[in-house]
Amino acid sequence: MRKRFTFQAVDVELNTDCCSPHTNAELTLTLRLPLQQINPKFGAFNGTGNDGKGKEREIVKWSPDIWREYKKDIVRIAEPFWSRKFWLINENYKFPFKLNPGSPDAYYPNIECCFKLVVRDALPADPLTIKVVRLAPGAKFVEHKMLFSDQGRFMEPKMHLTKSVPDPVLHGVSWTVDTGILSQRSLLHEIGHILVLSHVAAGTRLCPWGSDLNRVICYGTNDYEKHSLMGGGEELRPEHAYAWQQALHLFPEAGEEDWPVEMKRPSPKHPMLITSSVQGGCEVSRFVSK
Ligand SMILES: [Zn+2]
Repeated sequence: MRKRFTFQAVDVELNTDCCSPHTNAELTLTLRLPLQQINPKFGAFNGTGNDGKGKEREIVKWSPDIWREYKKDIVRIAEPFWSRKFWLINENYKFPFKLNPGSPDAYYPNIECCFKLVVRDALPADPLTIKVVRLAPGAKFVEHKMLFSDQGRFMEPKMHLTKSVPDPVLHGVSWTVDTGILSQRSLLHEIGHILVLSHVAAGTRLCPWGSDLNRVICYGTNDYEKHSLMGGGEELRPEHAYAWQQALHLFPEAGEEDWPVEMKRPSPKHPMLITSSVQGGCEVSRFVSK
């Protein structure tokens, strides 16, 4: 089957036609972002614009070439980053298929999570747009999911990694020392927010739901959390497949249960499992139907 749902900002397509004994099904989220240039006032080349924290920052006017290049770049960067990184595991034996109708063997594909990004210039009628500024050289800027900067596609230092070290002289006293700096392309982090993800520590004791989830502590209470894409680093974690897990519920054939996530191509197991083939980068287990 090949079924598609279209919403305002995203299309969701499930394709099981591509399944073979060595190929999983594909669930593709196609995100459509209408982008709106923000330029200095009165047609000037230099000016200022507010960042995500309301601070005035130096910006410059977009040129048609640089705008075109920016739009191309963010697709080139974001698609491979988000696509084919997660697999939803077929624990409940949905979507059985047989190579021949008379064959006793059924195959159960897992679901590969694919991502496409389509950008276009915003139209006046668009209910929601993402505003994009072009920063003056050296200007800082805090982005959010509706406000990007041209620099968001480049790695930038985001936060310090720290370690608690006991004082060599004062018993019972310890100091926090810097052990490095984490960098991140904010474009990828903001797409995480668009895919309805919160900061890594949201919902923990130090960053509870209902509090301001943009406080520094919400970007990670320890180094492991800070390395997350939804902290200050670029590591993808299984919980980042949330949008695909939710999207799969659009298809009644997938059942109501949550499909667990793996970040390596999976090798499913089952008591009836007789062989597991891992070929061509895709795996499907082979079962004997009784
Ligand atoms: Zn954020």
